[in-house]
Amino acid sequence: MNNDDAMQNYLANFAQEDEILRWIQTEAQRHDLPTISLQPLEGKLLHLLVRSSGAKKIVEIGALGGYSGTWLARALPADGHLWTLEKSAKHADVARAAFAKAGLSEKVTLVEGDALPSLQTLSAHAPFDFVFMDADPENYVNYFQWVRTHLRTGGILAAHNALAAGNIAAPNSDRSRGMAAFQDALLADTDFDSTIIAWGDGIVFAVKR
Ligand code: SAH
Ligand code: MG
Repeated sequence: MNNDDAMQNYLANFAQEDEILRWIQTEAQRHDLPTISLQPLEGKLLHLLVRSSGAKKIVEIGALGGYSGTWLARALPADGHLWTLEKSAKHADVARAAFAKAGLSEKVTLVEGDALPSLQTLSAHAPFDFVFMDADPENYVNYFQWVRTHLRTGGILAAHNALAAGNIAAPNSDRSRGMAAFQDALLADTDFDSTIIAWGDGIVFAVKR
């Protein structure tokens, strides 16, 4: 084991993943899902942000196999709820099984379909306390427009892949241009205070004033 591996293992201890989270990742592999879920420490960070902010109503865009959703939903109080949006029927099935395994079926609604129209149907449950964007950066600007009006004052917006695989400062694809456009819009919006956590592919973290 070289020093980097030792360091990675040391850091991973802080995530304190349990058997269920590991089972969820094994299931994702077994179903050949893309290996693009949050890293354990990122999941733990979102979990702590939800807990420490007392969020009760969360929207997640991009469920994949339910890994990040499990971290988020586990941080909710008994009367809290997570709505997680997923356009792939296959991913949605795997995620539903993950939430069932984690005992979270009552607390989580999987909204199957394209996120933009799904968000419109969720407006009825607004205002939300916490939104996590982790799908389809080309549309982050559009998701942000929805967030601006449906997140409560003091609510939190987190967005994954903020560094766009290292290309955020010099965007070179629809994906990285979409991410950059979102970050420009966020920084220009005086209703939001934000920072960027530059681990892994980065997480934008913002609070609505
Ligand atoms: N948050 C997950 C990873 C999400 S990966 C985790 O950390 O565990 C991105 C997911 O978003 C994929 O499952 C993909 O199918 C889904 N997705 C992509 N475009 C979408 C869209 N327009 N609407 C809804 N889901 C979308
Ligand atoms: Mg991501």
